[in-house]
Amino acid sequence: MSVVYDRVALIGLGLIASSMAHAMRRSGLAGEIVGTARSTETRDIARELGFCDRVVDSAAEAVKGADLVVLAVPVGAMGAVAAEIAPELAQGATVTDVGSVKQAVIEAVGPHLPEHVHFIPGHPLAGTEHSGPRSGFAELFDNRWCILVPNGSDAKATARLTRLWEGMGAHVDVMDAPHHDLVLAVTSHAPHLIAYTMVGVADDLSRVTDSEVIKFSAAGFRDFTRIAASDPTMWRDVFLTNKDATLEILGRFTEELFALQRAIRTGDGDHLHDYFTRTRAIRRGIIEAGQDTDAPDFGRSGQHDKA
Ligand code: NAP
Repeated sequence: MSVVYDRVALIGLGLIASSMAHAMRRSGLAGEIVGTARSTETRDIARELGFCDRVVDSAAEAVKGADLVVLAVPVGAMGAVAAEIAPELAQGATVTDVGSVKQAVIEAVGPHLPEHVHFIPGHPLAGTEHSGPRSGFAELFDNRWCILVPNGSDAKATARLTRLWEGMGAHVDVMDAPHHDLVLAVTSHAPHLIAYTMVGVADDLSRVTDSEVIKFSAAGFRDFTRIAASDPTMWRDVFLTNKDATLEILGRFTEELFALQRAIRTGDGDHLHDYFTRTRAIRRGIIEAGQDTDAPDFGRSGQHDKA
């Protein structure tokens, strides 16, 4: 594959950015990869691992001369990073991000960017519960979706960013920000909150039953604990910034849960059976669409669609 961008600047060097660096290298998609992170510790680890060609000490320095800038920090930190890099952005550069929420990122980042850059927000639907520069790997995006939110951006710049993601193994789809946030609230954000809650409930219970909850935990609960081990900062930011869509989905969830609760109490087996038949059909649809790689034993320690 040929070079898509001559110089890519990665701001933040955690799971997603380090995986992008590995994936770009695998296919020779970037002439040079320049990275930076907030802490000296992360920058030192990145230097030691060598997945960037250069690791520099500030975001402002990293973006100089870059034709692609990737913001790969928690959603709540995107605005401050954009303010820092704005004066140094090259003419005609593309700025993208990988944040799990799109409307809030557009509102936080957009106002800081000069008119001479293309701002194309993005979100790869791929992750693991691990974080930091050591957790990245080249295959993370293989056969996963990456959603771009061009928001009226230049078509050529969007096509180029699409080529990069496809080169890193992903399929690309385009959406507007509110739709993205609603879809992700259903498929990822609300399920994460439910997993966090379930693990919290089990933890309370384990105080009564000693370690039985852990000892006899079946696959379902173990999956919950894996999801609930995800980075607390990232997930705090997801819920704070995708508030409306998450609350909308949780409202519907609660209504359905009450209906199931009522069916159990009143012994309404037909209701339960019909409901589980419908959900089973959804599962079959996921398998037929080839998106069934969210199993605990899949590939590298629990790769799954995330965030
Ligand atoms: P990560 O592994 O925790 O890495 C986060 C990076 O951001 C680190 O380099 C960290 O620097 C830096 N950072 C943290 N707080 C910062 C701040 N206040 N200011 C500047 N830099 C800061 O995170 P990740 O999983 O790669 O996630 C990065 C982005 O991708 C997030 O927006 C997340 O929503 C999105 N995303 C994540 C997943 C997932 O499954 N993990 C999937 C899709 C999208 P230090 O190491 O120096 O602290």
